[in-house]
Formats: sequence, C-alpha cells, structure tokens
Amino acid sequence: MMKTPAKLLLEWYAQNGRRLPWRFRGGAHPNPYAVFISEMMLQQTTVKTVIPYFERFMTRFPTINELAQATEEEVLCYWQGLGYYTRARSLWQTARVITEKYSGEFPHNIKEIASLKGFGRYSAASFAALAYNLPATVIDGNVQRIMCRMYHLTAPLEHIQNEIKAYAEVLTDTHNAADYASAIMDLGAMICTPKKPQCLLCPWHKICLSANATDVELIPQKTKSEKKEINGKVYILSSADGKIYIRKRTEKGLLHGLYEFPWVEKGILVEGALDSAQSVTHIFTHIKMTLEIMTMKVDEFSGDGMFVKPEDLDKYPLSTLMQKVRRKALKNYVPFNKIVE
Ligand code: SF4
Repeated sequence: MMKTPAKLLLEWYAQNGRRLPWRFRGGAHPNPYAVFISEMMLQQTTVKTVIPYFERFMTRFPTINELAQATEEEVLCYWQGLGYYTRARSLWQTARVITEKYSGEFPHNIKEIASLKGFGRYSAASFAALAYNLPATVIDGNVQRIMCRMYHLTAPLEHIQNEIKAYAEVLTDTHNAADYASAIMDLGAMICTPKKPQCLLCPWHKICLSANATDVELIPQKTKSEKKEINGKVYILSSADGKIYIRKRTEKGLLHGLYEFPWVEKGILVEGALDSAQSVTHIFTHIKMTLEIMTMKVDEFSGDGMFVKPEDLDKYPLSTLMQKVRRKALKNYVPFNKIVE
C-alpha cells in the first residue's frame, strides 16, 4: 500500500528530526508551559539563539505559577538580549491570566488560545498541536514555502493564501498533529530551505512537483510590496545637566528636516550604552522599523546635533517614530542631575 505524505514525513522525522530542549516526541507535550515559552521565544528569533535563553528561563521560572508571581522587571531581565520585548511582557501577562482565570491550565481550543496576549493565528495553532495534539494545521513561512513547492504554486504568495491553507490542511496528519507540526517545521529548516533545498534527501521528493526543478529557489514568489524590516538601535544620550541629545535629519527623503534621537540600523553607535529593555515599532509604507532603546550618560557627543531640555522637546518636530521613542523612553525620565543617591 502506498504511504501517505504524512506517513513519509513522520518516518523521516523519526530518523532525522531535531532534538530541541522544548521538543517532545510521540504526541502531546507533557508540559504545555514549556511549549508556551518556546513558542513565544521563537517568534522572529532563530532556534539557535533561543536555546540558551529557554534553558535559563525554565530554570528560573520552571512553572507558570512562578512566572506569574515574578515581577515584569525580572522577566524582562531574563529576556534581555532576545529583543522584541513586547513578547516578554505579553508572555508574563498571559501567565498571570492563565493562573488567575484558568486555574493554571491553558484553554484547549484554538480560538481561546489565540485570544491570549502574545499569540497570533500561527502560534495558537502551533501551541494547540504541540501542547495538546489538537488537530491544528500549522502554517508559518516554512510551511508556505513547502506547500508552494510541493504543488508548484508560482503566483505571488499574497494571492494564494487560501490554496496554501487548503493544501496544508489536506496533508496534516490530524491524529498525530503534534509530531506532524514538529516534522514539517524541521523539513523547512533542514531540507526544504529557501536556498539550495536538498530534494534528494527529502521524504517528499517523489511526489513534489518542484523536486530538483531549476526554479525551485524562486518559489514561493514574494511580492515586491512586502514590507522590508529594519531593526536598529536608538540612543537616549543624557548630559550631566539632564539634557537630551537630538539631531536634525539632513538626508533627502520623507523625514527630511525632522529631528531625531540618534539611531543606527546596524552595529553600535555608542559603545557602552545600556539596553533599556524597551523598543518601539513603526510601520512606514514599505518598511516596518523596530528600534531598541539604548540609554547613556555622556559628557559630550560629536555630531551636528545639540542637547536640549526634555521639556523643550516640544519645540522640535519629531517624526512619529521618534515621538514614540520619546514617549516610551522619557516617560519616567529623571535627569541624572536630579537623581539622589
Ligand atoms: S522535494 Fe525539494 S522542493 Fe519538494 S518539498 Fe522536498 S526539498 Fe522541497
């Protein structure tokens, strides 16, 4: 009898799947809390980066009760370096909701899971499958890529979401949703990678319509209108008399003439600045920009900008992004010269 695609995939997974600290094989995870933490950490972050954070976090907060009883500040400390701090806040708030309203146990249906802070459609389906073996179909970027290649779907991704969903649902082994979800994620991470997929090693190479095709790397087709993501750092530099450094944008473009706190897209602008564990995100027409807020006391700063009193910032036009930075970074700002030690 011919094996189903799911069976082929699960057999491959049994032999080749990754061993990860939050992974459990053979059905629902015995500790849904571990699935919850890993799902939150893995959003926009690679598996390799997450592993040490996950281990440290689980050692300090081994249960949802311990996480719920911690302070937000301590949770943020254990998150420092992972970025996207909104995730840490949402995770902590959801832990409190689960202990207070759900007696410490996550709900068992996807809709309710998706309504909890920190979850989106993808992470709710993934959590439901991994934690409870619920018949949920996981559709992330990896699964989209695999479906497009399996069925040689070459139209722009945004036009074929329903088709992708339908194919992904047909292939899912709903009786083994947990292992199937892990298996397809591993297939996307290890074999059907964006560049140089290893079709000869793929459990689906005999049924895949794009196996060894010359255009395989071009599938899926991403539309040019997709937002570019920029992740950088913005610096709140304070002088000894409590003033803040701003500069005027001189480059031609949308924000020309506006003032800003100094920021960089890549690397470090000011050595030794402290990570405030806060970030702001702003969507421009074609760009999604996230800036992590760094702080530092400086005696002087070379550049064309100037130091101004925080209460005088209203006098300088700031872009919406920089207004967000200002609101967040200076909300509880105490000038260094006013700190009593
Ligand atoms: S055969 Fe190749 S293109 Fe098709 S799913 Fe496997 S790795 Fe991807």
